[in-house]
Order: sequence, then structure tokens, then C-alpha cells
Amino acid sequence: MQAKYNKVTTNILDQLKDIVGEENLIYANREKMEPYSHDETHAADYAFYPEVVVKATSRDEISSILKLANREIIPVTPRGAGSGLSGGAIPLFGGILISLEKMNRILEIDRENLIAVVEPGVITNDLNNSAQQEGLFFAGYPMSVETSFVGGNVAENAGGGRALKYGVTGRHVLGLEIVLPTGEIASFGGKRFKDVTGYNMIQLMVGSEGTLGIFTKITLKLLPLPPVKIDMLVLFPDVSSALKIVPLIMTELRIIPTGIEFMDRLSLDITCNHLGEKKQYEKAGAILLIEMDGNNREQVLEECFQIDDLCYKKGAALDSFIAEGPREQEKIWHIRKMAGEAYSALSTILSAEDLVVPPGKIVETISEVETLSKKYGLLMPCFGHVGDGNLHVTIIEDPSKKNIKVKEMLPAVFSELYLIVKRMGGTISGEHGIGYKRREYMPLVLGETELQAMKHIKQALDPNNILNPGKLL
Ligand SMILES: Cc1cc2nc3c(=O)[nH]c(=O)nc-3n(C[C@H](O)[C@H](O)[C@H](O)COP(=O)(O)OP(=O)(O)OC[C@H]3O[C@@H](n4cnc5c(N)ncnc54)[C@H](O)[C@@H]3O)c2cc1C
Repeated sequence: MQAKYNKVTTNILDQLKDIVGEENLIYANREKMEPYSHDETHAADYAFYPEVVVKATSRDEISSILKLANREIIPVTPRGAGSGLSGGAIPLFGGILISLEKMNRILEIDRENLIAVVEPGVITNDLNNSAQQEGLFFAGYPMSVETSFVGGNVAENAGGGRALKYGVTGRHVLGLEIVLPTGEIASFGGKRFKDVTGYNMIQLMVGSEGTLGIFTKITLKLLPLPPVKIDMLVLFPDVSSALKIVPLIMTELRIIPTGIEFMDRLSLDITCNHLGEKKQYEKAGAILLIEMDGNNREQVLEECFQIDDLCYKKGAALDSFIAEGPREQEKIWHIRKMAGEAYSALSTILSAEDLVVPPGKIVETISEVETLSKKYGLLMPCFGHVGDGNLHVTIIEDPSKKNIKVKEMLPAVFSELYLIVKRMGGTISGEHGIGYKRREYMPLVLGETELQAMKHIKQALDPNNILNPGKLL
């Protein structure tokens, strides 16, 4: 595959100006290009500058840019909001960065068919606000709703707080218009809920992390918006008591919550210290945040009481709170939402991991993570979407052990951690993707045959390897 790329010369810049206009280019200005040099993946190691940023405004512009780049062998990196956590949108080899920020129109909310058609740069929350006016909602969104773009969510097959009941982004994608790496325009699926006309190209493109094509139009399934939303916070003495409850909610009570979030003791400690809020969580060894929705308040409330009862009877719960209305809900979610910020305040050396294991293996996984953290003298707090078996372990430098060379030991820690999840029947990313950050660890969890099959697909669609090179494979 192509490893050497040509530079963006003044001649190439002139051609780009002809395609998108001078006003849509940023070049020769490091300060203005800085925001496009990184995503939300921590560590300066993941920052790379593009040679030029192009703010595309249409499918046809993107097609012309990719034809040019493919002809001249110049790398191209698609970028959504840059909220990614795996270095997917960083321009590793410089070249052209195509920002989708200007393609932000909601083209249609089709109430009759419960479908939305959007451009890729629509902010996730903007879509939901528009859908809400029609009594509908887009269920497959990540927790970064205020920033992430719909195109980025599709490219990462993002999950999030509601995936337990409604599934991840990919489950809601009905159609994609895509500019292929050669500049050709393809359109798969559309306003139809069933389609077995050939290979399932939509699901191949979902989660392809900008390596197989650039999405320019996205058709999404919407659902009726449940008018009732009630959240619960339950405090448990330890991790295993909390996690024991998760399958029982579904098997014994036959209730599928919208989402079940979890935080362990260390995660609570760090976040409470940061917020100065220790008291309420002092005795908890772990917490669950359980989100419920439905059409009938009495029924949803009744289900919450059943879960509450189960938590006390079978999980030895210490305390519980039921929150109705945005103010109360915000209060109980605050601790979970602030965890990332609290970790960053503790140390600049950290790595947010995105492990996924069969839900029944989470307790064992956390116990092995604890052993690993002691071995390396690091902090490894855990939170995550436990209903889906998705565990966000964060590797943090222990501020009391400054003599440990964390950066040097990280590759060994990653390898050991990823082998733990492999042993559990899991894998190294559930929703944040592989990107640049985890690329070299793919052979730990995928065999040669599996990797080759993926490489053949990439080669067939992108023979010159110009689209988002250095990511995923
Ligand atoms: C506070 C916070 C909370 C988060 N919570 C969650 C969560 O709950 N669940 C979750 O899954 N993730 C979460 N994330 C990660 C991130 O928000 C998601 O991965 C999101 O979907 C990325 O969207 P983006 O628009 O920012 O994409 P970017 O970061 O810009 O890009 C991500 C990838 O998509 C590609 N791409 C972008 N647009 C296109 C396009 N139009 N066509 C083709 N490829 C494209 C890029 O090349 C890159 O590989 C969180 C991040 C933060 C900072």
C-alpha cells in the first residue's frame, strides 16, 4: 500500500481554490490550523498538522477534491467535530483535511415515515431538537451530543447511554451517500426499512472511520419520542453487588432500561475529590445510574420501584434515589458526566480506554484491571455502559508516584490490558474506534485472515491508500 505521499504544492492549492473558493481554505497559518491538528484523544503525541484545511460545502466539491488527491497521491483526512477519542480525524501524513462543518443542514424530517435525512456536519443535538418538534427522536447517539456530528457518529458507529435499549448508531442508519476515495459518488440504501439488494454496504461503511469513503448524506431511522424519562441512582457496597443486578433487571424483572451506567470506587473518589462532593458517595463501593423511559408515568415509576426493590434485596444496595425532571436528573448524572474532567485535572498523562467484554465478564475484568494497575503503579478507575459490557478504563499517572516513567510503560500496559479483554471474549474498542491510537494493537485481537480480509476491502476501494491513511489498519 502507498506509503509515500506528495505535498500540497501551490499548484494544488490553486486547484483547491478553484473547487471550494479561497474563503473555504486554511493554509500557512499554524494558529488557525491548530484546532484541526488533534481530536479529543489525550497526549500531544496524537497531534499532527494538515497542509491545508478545506471546508467543503457540497458532495460535488468533495468528489472533485478526492479525484484531485487520488490523481496526485495526496492523503486526505475527513473530519467531523473532532470529538473522537482514538485519533481518527488527525491528519497523520499532513495533506488535505476535509472538514464537514459547513455541511450542516437537516434536509428533511419525514414524519410520515419516521425518517431524517441530514448532511454529515449536523450536530447530534440539533438533529434531536428538530426531531423532537415532530414528537420523534434519533436514538443512536453518543454522550457527546452537544458537539459530535452525525457523520462522525456514523463513521465511528458511536454508542452511548441509550444503546442498551435502542442499539448503537449503525442500527439506525438506513441510507448513505458516499464519495469514494477515487472521487466517484455512490448511494446505498434509502428511505426503506428492509433492503437485501446485494451486500450490506451500509453496515460496511458504518464504523469505517473515514477510511473507505466520505459520507455526504445520511438517512436515519427516527423513533417516537417517549414522553416519560425517569432516572435512578443506586449506591452499592462493592462492584460485584452492583454488577450482579444488571442481568437480573432483564431476566427476573423482564425490564430493559434505556441505559445502565456504572462507576467504581476509584472513579467516584477522583470525581468527588475534584468536585468537593465526597459525603454522598462516601460509603459506596460502586454506583449504577439506571435510565428508564416509556409512555406512561405510572408504569415507568412502577418499574423503577421494582428495580429499586431488586437492588436492595439482591445487591445489598446502600441507598437509592429516583430522579424525575431535568433538574433532579442533572443532579444525579453530574458525578458521571464530570468523571473525564476530574481525571484530566489529576494528571495530564492519561489514556481513555474503551474495552468491551460479555457483560457477565465485567466483574472479572475489573478485578484483573486492578491487579494490572498495582503491577505498574498506575491508577485505573473504571466507569462505563455496563448494560452493554462497555467499560471505560482510564489509565492515569498516580500523582503520588512521579518517579514512574508512565509514557515508556504505556505500550506494555495496553498490550496486557488488551490481552485481558481478549481472554474474556471481548475486544479493544466498543464505540470509540481504532483510529491511530489502537491501530498497532489490532493483531492482538484479530488474526491474519481477518486483517487480510479488511485490507482487501480497503485496497479495492482505495487503491492508492489516500483516504485517512495510517488509521484502523
Ligand atoms: C465528552 C465526550 C463524550 C463522548 N461520549 C461518547 C459516547 O458516549 N459514545 C461514543 O461512541 N463516543 C463518545 N465520544 C467520542 C466521540 O464523540 C464519538 O466518536 C463521535 O461519534 C465522533 O464524532 P465527530 O463528529 O467528533 O467525529 P471526528 O472525531 O471528527 O471523526 C471521527 C472519525 O470519523 C471520520 N469521519 C468524520 N466525519 C466523516 C464523514 N462525513 N464521512 C466519513 N468519515 C468521517 C473521521 O475521519 C474520523 O476517523 C465522546 C467524546 C467526548 C469528548
